[in-house]
Amino acid sequence: MPVIYDKVALIGLGLIASSMFWSGKRTGAVGHVSGFARSAETRETARRIGLCDSVCDSIAEVVADADLVVLAVPVGAMGAVAREMAPHLKPGATVTDVGSVKQTVIDNVGPYIPERVHFVPAHPMAGTEHSGPESGFATLFDNRWCLVVPPEGTDPAAVDRLEAYWHALGSQTERMDVEHHDLVCAVVSHIPHLIAYTMVGVADDLRRVTDQEVIKFSAAGFRDFTRIAASDPTMWRDVFLTNKDATIEMLGRFTEELFALQRAIRTGDGEQLHAYFTRTRTIRRSILEAGQDTDKPDFGRVQVGK
Ligand code: NAP
Repeated sequence: MPVIYDKVALIGLGLIASSMFWSGKRTGAVGHVSGFARSAETRETARRIGLCDSVCDSIAEVVADADLVVLAVPVGAMGAVAREMAPHLKPGATVTDVGSVKQTVIDNVGPYIPERVHFVPAHPMAGTEHSGPESGFATLFDNRWCLVVPPEGTDPAAVDRLEAYWHALGSQTERMDVEHHDLVCAVVSHIPHLIAYTMVGVADDLRRVTDQEVIKFSAAGFRDFTRIAASDPTMWRDVFLTNKDATIEMLGRFTEELFALQRAIRTGDGEQLHAYFTRTRTIRRSILEAGQDTDKPDFGRVQVGK
């Protein structure tokens, strides 16, 4: 595979950046990869596990000479990082990010991008509940989508090149308008996380009443909520603070549906419940058909003792 970027700089060395490093190395789509994280502890871990070809101690150092700079920090931190890196960017370089919300990133990072540097925001639709430099793995992006959200007027060649890079990391790409991106992600990712956080919070309150039973019998659906609700608190705080409009809009719709189901339960409307659950079951089937999850029972979990 031809090298797509000779020099890549990763800022933030958590789940997403480390997975980008390992998957890029798999195919040889990138040349030299330098990395930077704000804490000495993370930089130390990166050096120990061989994450990045070189680990730098400053933002100025990591971006110098890079053809592609990837911002892989929480959405709320992107603006400050962009301000610090801007004077050190190489003319002709591309800056991208992997933030889960796009309008805020464009508003907060865009103004710092120098004239001769391209800015191509993107969002890989892949992740796990783990975080930090040791959580990444080479196959995270395989067969997943990466949404590319170029602001108006972005150089088409720079967008094509970033897409080629994501293809090399194993992803499919789709270009999307920023407003649409933030709405779609509110539905498929942000609200489901909020619901999981709420459900686990409610169960935690209940646990005080039912002692340990919530944990003991957790296989019955609750366990899947706890996986999602174990996701990084900083990242998710920033997602909700920065995708306020879309999440509030979707929460409104969710609440209406919940009330409708509550009413069906109260009035004993089994027909409505059955029709609703039949409709949702087909959504699961389409996710499987699209190759976005496994058909194995219990998501392919290995059962303890088997
Ligand atoms: P992560 O594993 O928690 O790593 C975050 C990295 O950002 C760490 O290196 C951390 O540095 C650094 N960081 C945290 N706060 C910072 C600040 N205020 N200033 C500078 N650096 C800071 O996070 P991640 O899961 O890779 O997420 C990174 C980005 O990807 C986020 O914008 C997130 O929205 C997006 N994303 C995440 C997922 C997912 O499922 N996790 C999926 C798609 C997109 P230290 O280690 O030194 O603290």
